[in-house]
Amino acid sequence: MSELRPPHTPHVLQKFEHPDWTVAGEPRASVALTRLDTLWINTGTLCNITCAHCYIESSPTNDRLAYITREEARAFYDEIATGGLGTREIGFTGGEPFMNPQILELIEDALARGFEALVLTNAMQPMRRPRIEAGLLDLNRRFGRRLTLRVSLDHHGQALHEAERGGTWDKTVAGLDWLAGTGLSVAIAGRTRWNETEADLRAGFARLIAQHGWPIDANAPAPKTDPRQCVLDPNDPGTWRPCRPPPWPPTGLVWWDVFAIPSGLAAASNTNPANVIPGYFKMRSRFVDYAGLYVLHCHILIHEDRGMMFSVNVGKPLTTVLKHH
Ligand code: SF4
Repeated sequence: MSELRPPHTPHVLQKFEHPDWTVAGEPRASVALTRLDTLWINTGTLCNITCAHCYIESSPTNDRLAYITREEARAFYDEIATGGLGTREIGFTGGEPFMNPQILELIEDALARGFEALVLTNAMQPMRRPRIEAGLLDLNRRFGRRLTLRVSLDHHGQALHEAERGGTWDKTVAGLDWLAGTGLSVAIAGRTRWNETEADLRAGFARLIAQHGWPIDANAPAPKTDPRQCVLDPNDPGTWRPCRPPPWPPTGLVWWDVFAIPSGLAAASNTNPANVIPGYFKMRSRFVDYAGLYVLHCHILIHEDRGMMFSVNVGKPLTTVLKHH
């Protein structure tokens, strides 16, 4: 249970030293966890390849996140049970998950506890080792379609896939060919960064899938997202739209970066028929350890010129508290 006052320590608290109290001796922000649908486990940052876009800069030498162990993952599964978190699925990502020496045990434990398991993989050499192939066949026999492997194939054409991932096409396609013959549940994760429509992309993947006879439906609906969720993908112009349902302001938008700021709205009133409500956007940030004045700026000069350089004054925490682990 949390302490009700800052801890008495023989030294001055360091940043992030105490889980409940900040350096300034104030209660750390918190958010109550009500449900955890998917628990994502990072199996470690090592990967057999180095992709241009990798979100975590994985490579054959990046071991900044060590391999998670079976014991550590079990503790998370226990936490789900004791906390009654209602978790449906355990997702495994990396790095390349099949580089982790205990990946089969990690997956097996998840499945044995009744979770679904989803493994993101490049389907290359780490997955193709005899021990791993045999283990996957065994898991498929025992747990069937509760285990899914999602293979990263950025584009249905070799050239664009390899623009991201180097000369990996043949090996990944061979991995998909092997998976297709096993009866394992398989999916493909493509990307939308080349300004093709979703329909064109799906058609391209459908041709490739048919050519190889992979048991994958290129027209399967995308995973459901909460309709209230606003998703903006900088690489997908289709998502560059106001973050609320129509009707939208008639004159479009004035700022186009990560979030769209609506243009002003005419709001005539008795006293001022030409009243205009300026475009308005509220973004909430979480400031945990620092209160006071500082400069917020964008390092892109043209953005600074357009107003993204200003002073921010962080005040005392409000009564609503936020917390993440
Ligand atoms: S295969 Fe995945 S984890 Fe490995 S470098 Fe590429 S994007 Fe990163």
